[in-house]
Amino acid sequence: MIPGMRPVIVAGNWKMHTTPSDAGELAAIIARRTNEPGVVRVLCPPFVCLAAVRDALAAEAAGRDVAVGAQNVHHEVTGAFTGEVSAPMLRGLATWTIAGHSERRRDAAETDELVNQKISRALEAELRVILCVGEQLDDREAGRAETVVRDQVLGSLRGHQPGPWLTIAYEPVWAIGTGRTARGVDAAEMAGVIRRALGELGSAAGGEDVPVLYGGSVTGGSIDEFMAEPAIDGALVGGASLKPDEMAAIVARAGLTARARAGASSA
Ligand code: PEP
Repeated sequence: MIPGMRPVIVAGNWKMHTTPSDAGELAAIIARRTNEPGVVRVLCPPFVCLAAVRDALAAEAAGRDVAVGAQNVHHEVTGAFTGEVSAPMLRGLATWTIAGHSERRRDAAETDELVNQKISRALEAELRVILCVGEQLDDREAGRAETVVRDQVLGSLRGHQPGPWLTIAYEPVWAIGTGRTARGVDAAEMAGVIRRALGELGSAAGGEDVPVLYGGSVTGGSIDEFMAEPAIDGALVGGASLKPDEMAAIVARAGLTARARAGASSA
């Protein structure tokens, strides 16, 4: 598949921000400010805000094609797992989920094996998955970034056939929430690493059909560098996804790429 055929996606990870009483209004404002043709938009609020966001988007003309995503799912379907949320519980609330975010790998000791099981549960519940991968700063400085990311892709996806359910976010850990961003050219190079690993997993198109997003301190000011790279198909946005002005600028830039791709594929 040529890059022009891949969807352009902007997903917002609200992390542990917003409450059920303010999340719906924020989602509605973002939906109105980001109504760009051709850009797939996904908002991932905390679990307790999913219903409010779903309802607010359904009530908003510009919100009906904004998807709702969870930030995580448990690796089991049901059981004695206090405080956890399983994939089937999200039915009617979310159609996407993030898996393997670096903050969960760090804080909840999530391994690739566990992420792999979470992806199994997500697929059984028909959720689309944004799999996060990315190296630590010392990995990059030691020249291990490519090996680390390849291993994360292979480990998290072993046994799963890449398909339209899958989006991968390349998120160098040293760029998340730090204000530092990778260079566009480095993100594009890592997208190549990710797609080669998808090819090893048996992706029919050698990973060329799987969208790869960049994540790590993306703002309206930095998005251009990433969207200018044909290998990058959008962004997973953390802190800036809570700010409507930033989201409007990010999605507007993503819309330029979406329109250019649509033009290229119809020419
Ligand atoms: C994220 O949460 O995935 C993320 C990229 O965060 P931030 O944009 O705040 O770095």
